[in-house]
Amino acid sequence: MTKKIALSLLFALFCSHFSFAAEEAAQPGKNDNVSFNQLLKQLTEEYTAGLQMPEPARPADAEAAGVQDNRYWITVQASDRYVRTRLLEAGVDIVEVHKNKISGIAPKDVLAGLSQKGYTIEKKIPLSQYIKNLKDFPAADAAYHNYKETTDLLKTLVSKNSDIASLFSLGKTIENREIWCLRINSTAKGRKASGKPGAVYIGNHHAREHLSNEVPLLLAVYLLDYRNDADIKKYIAALDIYIVPMLNPDGVEFDIKTGKYQWQRKNMRVNSDKSVGVDLNRNYDSWFGGQGTSHYPSADTYCGTAAFSEPESLAIKNFVLARKNLKTMNSYHSYGGLVMYPWGGKDAPVENEKDRQVFIKAAGEMAKLTDYTPEQSNEMYIATGDTCDWAYDAAKIFAFTTELEGRGFYPGAAIIEKAVTSNIKAAVYMLSLTDNPYKILK
Ligand SMILES: [Zn+2]
Repeated sequence: MTKKIALSLLFALFCSHFSFAAEEAAQPGKNDNVSFNQLLKQLTEEYTAGLQMPEPARPADAEAAGVQDNRYWITVQASDRYVRTRLLEAGVDIVEVHKNKISGIAPKDVLAGLSQKGYTIEKKIPLSQYIKNLKDFPAADAAYHNYKETTDLLKTLVSKNSDIASLFSLGKTIENREIWCLRINSTAKGRKASGKPGAVYIGNHHAREHLSNEVPLLLAVYLLDYRNDADIKKYIAALDIYIVPMLNPDGVEFDIKTGKYQWQRKNMRVNSDKSVGVDLNRNYDSWFGGQGTSHYPSADTYCGTAAFSEPESLAIKNFVLARKNLKTMNSYHSYGGLVMYPWGGKDAPVENEKDRQVFIKAAGEMAKLTDYTPEQSNEMYIATGDTCDWAYDAAKIFAFTTELEGRGFYPGAAIIEKAVTSNIKAAVYMLSLTDNPYKILK
């Protein structure tokens, strides 16, 4: 986000604060909230106004920023999900799945290994060159919230709704940033235990998936802005709601710090070979280090040295295990347009038939609301160590992974409104199930 936009957003939040305050004096009791519609409209207007936005990384800029990116954008023949799983294990980050091939990202030495292993590489191009060639790259991304803006908005929301909202940190990242969690609960604040059924929404495991911060962040704005609507009021009274919009702020800030995207997926751990980053969505203890994960530190799907070796995934583990009341979870990623459910890490369906039916039906409903495709996570490939497999396996939480829409990691700000609007419907639907997910079977 440029300073100009950040200032205008802050200014707008400020204005909304004062106008609410003025109205409040005239109309006592009027809800004093950040306006969801106002914020959404503003994001759209910023897009159409065509203000100055960051552009994609170019080789010279990457060098100037001290980044040595040896990754390639590749297209490899892959006939089924077993071949795709082995490609992940070899160190390829699969970004797009096509009928008989995949496209994705691989470091130079992984690429050399693929040829030796007999894979047919149809196309390879240095990632920096590939990014440069994206002519339709949207120039609108300043509307997205960076870490500071996300933090400020969460704090504003809590200050305006201090009777039911609180903010606390799940812990610190590798680079010492707080991992913020906004909680909505009418009777308990901060870390205080609650017996109410709990729902949790998590965004930005992966740094470059910036849309996956916007959806849960604006969900928080929405729930608090519409807190007096009948349904929302009922859920807020009955449930314990947690929103962690940006789990990997270090990666997010690295991705955008020069104003030129770095295509960063992982966190900012410096590995033993001096490469940077562990894939947080391979670092959970669900058959850690098994199928579909890479043990090669430079790979974008590197699982790390041990399950929960990373402070960000460890923060989620500690958060979940300390709250036995959690019933549902949605972890947002981009892109693909999918609502997925366990297992992702093994070649089998969820064994408990009742649970499996809950997963299928709930994912089906959320897919209708978002116009996405519902499927078991292992349909594209098998990948161990992911959040939702672990949350269901370790804590029996009905955990979903939503791959948001878009054609690329940087789909522009115009997509925010649609993605947020439809995914809020799905998120509210998940709240409707949280008191007893099994009621969907009746
Ligand atoms: Zn992701």
